[in-house]
Amino acid sequence: MKFGTTAIHAGQEPDSATGAIMTPIYQTSTYVQSAPAVHKGFDYSRADNPTRKALEKNLAALEGAKYCAAFSSGMGAIDAVIKLLKTGDHVLAGNDLYGGTYRIFVKVFEQFGLRFDFIDMSHKDDVKKAITPDTKMIWVETPTNPLLRIVDIEGVAALAKEAGALTVVDNTFATPFLQRPISLGADIVVHSATKYLGGHSDVILGAAITDDDKLAERLHFIQKSSGAVPGPFDCFLALRGTKTLHVRMERHCQNAKAVAEFLAVHLKVQHVNYPGFKFHPNYAIAERQMSGFGGMVSFTLKNDDIRAAKKLTTYTKVFTLAESLGGVESLIEHPASMTHSSLPRKVRLQSGLEDTLIRLSVGIEDADDLVEDLGQALERI
Ligand SMILES: *Cc1c(COP(=O)(O)O)cnc(C)c1O
Repeated sequence: MKFGTTAIHAGQEPDSATGAIMTPIYQTSTYVQSAPAVHKGFDYSRADNPTRKALEKNLAALEGAKYCAAFSSGMGAIDAVIKLLKTGDHVLAGNDLYGGTYRIFVKVFEQFGLRFDFIDMSHKDDVKKAITPDTKMIWVETPTNPLLRIVDIEGVAALAKEAGALTVVDNTFATPFLQRPISLGADIVVHSATKYLGGHSDVILGAAITDDDKLAERLHFIQKSSGAVPGPFDCFLALRGTKTLHVRMERHCQNAKAVAEFLAVHLKVQHVNYPGFKFHPNYAIAERQMSGFGGMVSFTLKNDDIRAAKKLTTYTKVFTLAESLGGVESLIEHPASMTHSSLPRKVRLQSGLEDTLIRLSVGIEDADDLVEDLGQALERI
């Protein structure tokens, strides 16, 4: 089956009790047993729940994998994946990760003796050099956030395999509609389904997906043991979201292209980060591993005063000033003071994340209105 059909049908059969076409919200904590210790079906909703199971099957199918464990947030999924490791293990990660991922690595897991290094993963030679005998996991985000660099998943996964390390790809920005990391050699895909998968800015949810039997078993064990599971209503919302993923992503991609092209020639704009430009340093890889360039665009201003950037984010009318991304509505934000403020300024600048950088999550409104809105806001700074 092709993507759109999978999105709408995978994991979702009519309810066997009523024929309901939509997956019911099984709002129950426990299930009646036929006899003690005869394990048949569901027993307790932290371990498993029918609405959650339908979502897990759906997300696994979209990534072309067998297994998925859903979590109460993207961070819950990331937390579970890191718990596959043990004290002394080394993780190699990108240097412009989602801020919350950087934070949990450094502020939570370093306390437990895990070690992390952050490098520019778009240079494969640097990845190779940074691998140590203790490296057990390579953590990839691509496109990266907020600089939209592209990492060669296949290349990095091959290096990881050679070193006996797992490759994890945070596929939140691209979604399986544009990029399928498991088919490129990744072991685990994580998602903040809060973003494009849910798609309507109305739910916080995460997922870890794998095709490997043993990893799946361990992830489900951690899911049940740590207990960061999503409620059935949240699973229902995410399932409703994935039904239109392919349609939404097409429009996100079209609109982002129109916005990026407008900004690229604007007199007040210094530089536009958009992987669909031929002059983007990783354009060739983006073209190879993605079927579209996504809905995210970031840019810097010629005026390098941080106050100009902050003002711009309050002058737009269609683009709303807010963190997060991937919803139907367009959002604008200032990474240095918002999503990436947990990075020390020095680390931030070193990784190329400048003070005037603005990030856009381009929604699925009419492209003309989006361009006009950015135009009027830029005029005012
Ligand atoms: C939002 C986000 C996360 C965290 O997900 P939550 O659902 O907010 O916990 C992780 N990775 C990326 C790339 C994100 O954008």
